[in-house]
Amino acid sequence: MNQNQLVTTRTNKMRHKKTAYFSKMKKIAHGKILDIINLTESTYILRVEKGDLEFKAGQYLVLNIPGENVAREYSIYSQEDAPYLDLLIKEVTDGKISKELKYLKIGTKLEISGPFGFFVLRDNRLSTKNHFTFIATGTGISPFHSMILSNPELNFEVIHGVKYQNEAYDSANYPAGSYTVCTSREAGGDFQGRLTEYLKNRGVRKDSVYYICGNSAMVNEVTIFLEKMEISPENIRTEVFF
Ligand SMILES: Cc1cc2nc3c(=O)[nH]c(=O)nc-3n(C[C@H](O)[C@H](O)[C@H](O)COP(=O)(O)OP(=O)(O)OC[C@H]3O[C@@H](n4cnc5c(N)ncnc54)[C@H](O)[C@@H]3O)c2cc1C
Repeated sequence: MNQNQLVTTRTNKMRHKKTAYFSKMKKIAHGKILDIINLTESTYILRVEKGDLEFKAGQYLVLNIPGENVAREYSIYSQEDAPYLDLLIKEVTDGKISKELKYLKIGTKLEISGPFGFFVLRDNRLSTKNHFTFIATGTGISPFHSMILSNPELNFEVIHGVKYQNEAYDSANYPAGSYTVCTSREAGGDFQGRLTEYLKNRGVRKDSVYYICGNSAMVNEVTIFLEKMEISPENIRTEVFF
């Protein structure tokens, strides 16, 4: 078994354990769906009621469709003080929940647990005005969108790997010059090719704190590369979606 298969197997095992754990725990809220906003043919924003839920940018929620004993995690896309919760979801072709959520009626109540997770900006790093490099594939951009909108003073750059240009979701929300999109299947982005290729060609900033989010193969490859570039492990934080 290669390194990437090992990470995926580990992720799937954790998923099963987590689903069992979440289904036993108290659901903290029933949030109504307020809107479903299509960004591309397959990616949409699911907007749900926030109620009195508080979270730290980078955290995720666990959603259950009532009557179904299946839970899925989704990072929060909206900023901490928004009056609603936005989740950026990609409809997975062979998936279950990502497809079902997209076609639910506005007003449907979802079971929402959370917030969970430690993939957040550490306060001591914020106060020392560190530079942050956010690296994401696909909807892995979600926690970074929330972190950036929630912290207007942040000193950062975003590197986003997608297949097509129209997957540069809400790129206008990032200040000019802070967002680079790498498109692997067509020209027209800032770089044509995979983000790992972009990063390797360009090199890395040694004084930055690296946050990486998305599929396990990318997270793994970038982590190994950063370590080779002598970025200290304590300045590399990761979140694997699948
Ligand atoms: C902490 C955490 C946060 C997450 N946040 C988000 C988020 O903000 N947005 C989001 O869209 N997803 C997110 N995910 C993934 C999400 O939980 C589901 O796995 C995803 O929506 C697929 O669920 P499904 O029931 O449709 O498919 P499943 O039946 O669970 O999976 C079908 C197959 O699709 C693969 N898969 C899962 N996600 C993707 C994907 N994006 N692209 C291609 N293949 C995939 C799975 O590995 C599996 O092989 C997150 C996962 C974790 C662990």
